Amino acid sequence: MQFIMDCLNVNEKGHLQMSGCDLVEVAERFGTPAYVLDEATVRKNCRAYVDSIKKYYGGNGLALYASKALSCKYMYRLIAEEGMGADVVSGGEIYTALSAGFPAERLYFHGNNKTLDELEYAIKCGVGRIVADNRTELERINKIAGELGVCVKVIIRITPGVDAHTHSFIKTGQIDSKFGAILETGEADEIVGLAASMENIEVTGFHCHIGSQIFELAPFELAAEIMMNFIADMREKHGVTARELDLGGGFGIKYTEKDTPIDYGEYMHAVSKTVKRVAAERDIPLPFIIVEPGRSVVAEAGLTLYTVGTIKEIPGIRTYVSIDGGMTDNPRYILYQSEYTAVSAENPEALRNSVITLAGKCCESGDLIGENMEISKLHTGEIVAVLSTGAYNYSMASNYNRIPRPPVLFAADGEIKTAVRRETYEDMLICDM
Ligand SMILES: *Cc1c(COP(=O)(O)O)cnc(C)c1O
Repeated sequence: MQFIMDCLNVNEKGHLQMSGCDLVEVAERFGTPAYVLDEATVRKNCRAYVDSIKKYYGGNGLALYASKALSCKYMYRLIAEEGMGADVVSGGEIYTALSAGFPAERLYFHGNNKTLDELEYAIKCGVGRIVADNRTELERINKIAGELGVCVKVIIRITPGVDAHTHSFIKTGQIDSKFGAILETGEADEIVGLAASMENIEVTGFHCHIGSQIFELAPFELAAEIMMNFIADMREKHGVTARELDLGGGFGIKYTEKDTPIDYGEYMHAVSKTVKRVAAERDIPLPFIIVEPGRSVVAEAGLTLYTVGTIKEIPGIRTYVSIDGGMTDNPRYILYQSEYTAVSAENPEALRNSVITLAGKCCESGDLIGENMEISKLHTGEIVAVLSTGAYNYSMASNYNRIPRPPVLFAADGEIKTAVRRETYEDMLICDM
């Protein structure tokens, strides 16, 4: 039996199993909903990035885990062990990483509107780089750094004009974005000039991130080419030599059978060729390369276990199967009509001959996990698994309707480790006065 997540199989009881853990038993022991991730898969994904930089670029780079995909202490520890850095986007993520013992110098602080407090906190903690998004941020960083008597290493975020948010990509015109300094309008050039003149800032490199859930190599190659030429242009114009090129993340993953992710090795092979070619053409030193995978590190390593409750059949229209979670633990359908694959954890090999709408329990009609999902005939009380929920689920979870957040569990060699325990009603009252 093949599932879209490689780490799943069926055990002798006929139940869905991950890393030697029977997922029906996990549901009984820890309750539902529950997020369960396969630790070996997360580590394997980390190694694929780290190894690809070694293999195709002489190890002259660093893979950062974009921690907004799944941020908790357990993940920062795991990422540190795998020799990666982390991309953080808020004071809260910095705090979580440092609380887990993550080395500050391997944190890269992103965002389009970091607050004064966050910037000051990040600089005091000694984060490795701040990825400055715009003029306001550069001015703020320079001022705070001056007051603290330090020089801050900054990477400047550029919008390179490659939009790859969908299955195909657009070459120009991606100037309507809240992120980054725009290349086509000359804004990027201006900002680099400004940063170069600032006393308490050292520009170490440039950054771009062209989208998410991307399935093609071409937009990444094009972005690398544009960024390399930008490095050369800025060296000629402002005498700024960017030693670091941060190419962002956005590698696609499999949510359903339709999705066809690219191989990380192929990506690094293609991109490093482009970088080396332009470096030779423009006579600039080879930059230290940074990549920032988030989704592709954790998404396919994780699933969510739910218990089926109400089943409502509307003849000729659809069948709603409601589960004991929903938009509070997985808001991706209500945010962007994302698609998922679901399978019965009790009966994963049964014929998938029913078409259902998997619905949540919140007071919102849009609170669905998916529509037209093909699955075996389900009964009330049955444990179902929604696959590929390792990224942007727990990290996007809320307490809407005062529903506590599920636990985050890691399966490793037949054992379950609790990374985040289930929230209690009391936890939800902690800030209530
Ligand atoms: C979200 C984000 C990433 C990670 O994107 P994925 O699609 O999860 O790989 C990397 N870098 C930046 C700047 C981001 O905003």
